[in-house]
Amino acid sequence: MARKFFVGGNWKCNGTAEEVKKIVNTLNEAQVPSQDVVEVVVSPPYVFLPLVKSTLRSDFHVAAQNCWVKKGGAFTGEVSAEMLVNLDIPWVILGHSERRALLNETNEFVGEKVAYALAQGLKVIACVGETLEQRESGSTMDVVAAQTKAIADKVTNWSNVVVAYEPVWAIGTGKVASPAQAQEVHDELRKWLAKNVSADVAATTRIIYGGSVNGGNCKELGGQADVDGFLVGGASLKAEFIDIIKAAEVKKSA
Ligand code: PEP
Repeated sequence: MARKFFVGGNWKCNGTAEEVKKIVNTLNEAQVPSQDVVEVVVSPPYVFLPLVKSTLRSDFHVAAQNCWVKKGGAFTGEVSAEMLVNLDIPWVILGHSERRALLNETNEFVGEKVAYALAQGLKVIACVGETLEQRESGSTMDVVAAQTKAIADKVTNWSNVVVAYEPVWAIGTGKVASPAQAQEVHDELRKWLAKNVSADVAATTRIIYGGSVNGGNCKELGGQADVDGFLVGGASLKAEFIDIIKAAEVKKSA
């Protein structure tokens, strides 16, 4: 079964209501490949989710950037998976490296969050990726495998999971992974899924790349056999996000 190209835009902690409206207008006016070719999901900060959801074109979807690990209650400042479901928000990003590093989210905590969000009916973009130090010491695949294992330990149904391979050294740095570097990890990650989960999950789960993707490098990256799309930070706030969505065409002609 072909894996549909997936392009996610992670707006992180950016934007005013006016800026958000402008981005939505740009997206709404864009000519992009049809939904059969590419799935597009944008992830504004929580406070703008209702605004974006109610104004964004219907062929694009929205994601939250995080949610709480279990049912809501006395967890000040948190937003639960149930609340996202209640607002009809279909997707959530979990395990982003900024949360792992700055908020000390462990592999196990991320695994629990992924399982809980899926159980509530959300679809999950689960992020994994190594630091520069880990890459330079040759442990990239060990790190990525441990992060993925913590998810696999808790999840049985992978049909609503997209795995985002995001090398930490490439996020927000302008230092994109080369197409060969991205393909190598995506291929190994797929082999890891085949061996440790199932051949079917390996063949059908989308593994997307994130880290300094832009309008200039997206086509070559997207042309790699195991790169099924992108998670885009900085460039998702700009008009070039449209070019990144259009990179889905490389798979159609492949
Ligand atoms: C991200 O934050 O998920 C990301 C990939 O950021 P950037 O595209 O800015 O590197």
